[in-house]
Amino acid sequence: MKYVSTRGHSNAVLFSDALKAGLAPDGGLYVPESYPTFTSDEIQNYFMPRCNQLPELATTLLKPWFEQDRLSKLLPSICETAFNFPAPLNYISSGHAILELFHGPTAAFKDFGAQFLAACLEEFPEVNPSTILVATSGDTGGAVASAFFKKTGIRVIILYPKGQVSPLQERQLTTWGENIQAIAVRGTFDDCQKLVKDAISLNTSKPFCNLISANSINLGRLLPQTCYYAASSLSYKLKMGVSPGYIIPTGNLGNAVAALWAKKMGFPIREICLATNSNLTLKHYIETATWSPQPSRKTLANAMDVGNPNNIERLNQLYPNIQLLKKEVRVVSANDEEIGRTVSQLFKNEKLLVCPHTATAFHALRQLSEKWIIASTAHPAKFAQVLEPLTDQTLELPANLARLMAKKPDFIELSADLQSILKIII
Ligand SMILES: *Cc1c(COP(=O)(O)O)cnc(C)c1O
Repeated sequence: MKYVSTRGHSNAVLFSDALKAGLAPDGGLYVPESYPTFTSDEIQNYFMPRCNQLPELATTLLKPWFEQDRLSKLLPSICETAFNFPAPLNYISSGHAILELFHGPTAAFKDFGAQFLAACLEEFPEVNPSTILVATSGDTGGAVASAFFKKTGIRVIILYPKGQVSPLQERQLTTWGENIQAIAVRGTFDDCQKLVKDAISLNTSKPFCNLISANSINLGRLLPQTCYYAASSLSYKLKMGVSPGYIIPTGNLGNAVAALWAKKMGFPIREICLATNSNLTLKHYIETATWSPQPSRKTLANAMDVGNPNNIERLNQLYPNIQLLKKEVRVVSANDEEIGRTVSQLFKNEKLLVCPHTATAFHALRQLSEKWIIASTAHPAKFAQVLEPLTDQTLELPANLARLMAKKPDFIELSADLQSILKIII
C-alpha cells in the first residue's frame, strides 16, 4: 500500500515514511492510493464476532493499510499497546447509543491515536533522537505528552493557544517535566497549527532535525481511529439489527475522516452527521461550496475551536465535488447558548452528564430522525468549569485528574512567530 499527497505533487510512499514525514513534501496530506475494502463475508464472519476485541479487530483491519511496510509484522503488538483501554457503547433511550471514547489516560479520544503513533515511532531507531511537534486546541497535547512521556531520545513540544484551554487541560499540557515542553502561544489554535505546518515544511526542504508532527495531519494519529468506528458499528448492528449513523463532534475533521474511511472500507455505517460549534467554516462550505477559512472563535467546546480544519483536504479527496460530499455528510452547528441548554436539559431530564463537545452532537440529534451513535469525545469532568454552573452540581474529578489540578503549570510563553519557535526546537 502506497500513500499519495492530496495535492498530487509528491512521490507515493509506504506507511512508515508517511508517518515520519507527517506532511507530504508538497504541503498536502497523505491518503491511500486506493482504499482497502472488506467483503461483506469478511465483515460478517470475521469482524462481527470480534467486535468487542478491539486490538484483534484493529490488527486485521489495518493490515492492508500496512502492506509491504516494515511495521506490518509488528501490528499485533502495536495494536495491543495502542488499544489498551475500552470504547464502550452505552445504549440510551430510543435506540440511540453513546460511544464513550474517553477511557484513556487523558480522558479524551485522542489517546487512541497518540498511543498508536507512539507505538509506531518506537520501532524507528533512525529517527531517534527526534522532536515531536504538536499544536493543540486542548486535548491533543495532553494525549501526545502522556503517550511519549519519558520515551528515550524523544522530545515533545506542545503549542497551545494561551488562555484558551480549560484549567484541567492546561495542567495536562504543562505539568509533565522531563521530555515534555509546553509553549503558550499568544494566538489562536489556527496560529499554532500553522506554526507546526510551517516548521515541518521548512524541515522537509532544509532538514535541521528529526521533526515529526503529532497532529491529525499525521496518518499515524488518524488511521487507528477508524477501528473504533468499525467495531462499534458492528456491535450496534449485532444488537439492533440495523446499521447506525454517527454524530461526530468535529473540529479539525480528523475523527470525522476516520469514520468516513471506516464506512468506505465496508463497515455498516448508514450515514454521518458532523456537529460543530460556532466555528462555521465547514457549515458554510457545505451550504455554499466555497471554502473560506475564518479566524477561530472561542466557544464552550474549545477543542473544536478550529477555523481552518486541516483534514478538509482528505475529505475533498474522498468526495471530489460538493454534491457527493453533501450526499454523504451533513453538518449541524450549535452555538454556546445551545450547547449550554443541551447540557442542562440532558442532565435534568435524563441524568446524563456530557462534555460540551459531546453536547454539540446531542444538539444535532434533536433535529434528526433515525437511530444514531453519538461519539462522546471527552470525559465531562475535564470541563467542570463549564458544566458545574449549567447543572448546579459539584463534579467529582477522577483521582488521577484531581492530583493534576494540585500541580503548578510550567510553560514558556511566546508570540505566534516561527523564528521564536525554531529557536526552541533547534
Ligand atoms: C479534538 C477534539 C474534538 C474534535 O476532533 P477533530 O478530530 O479535531 O475533529 C472534539 N472533541 C474533543 C473533546 C476533542 O478533544
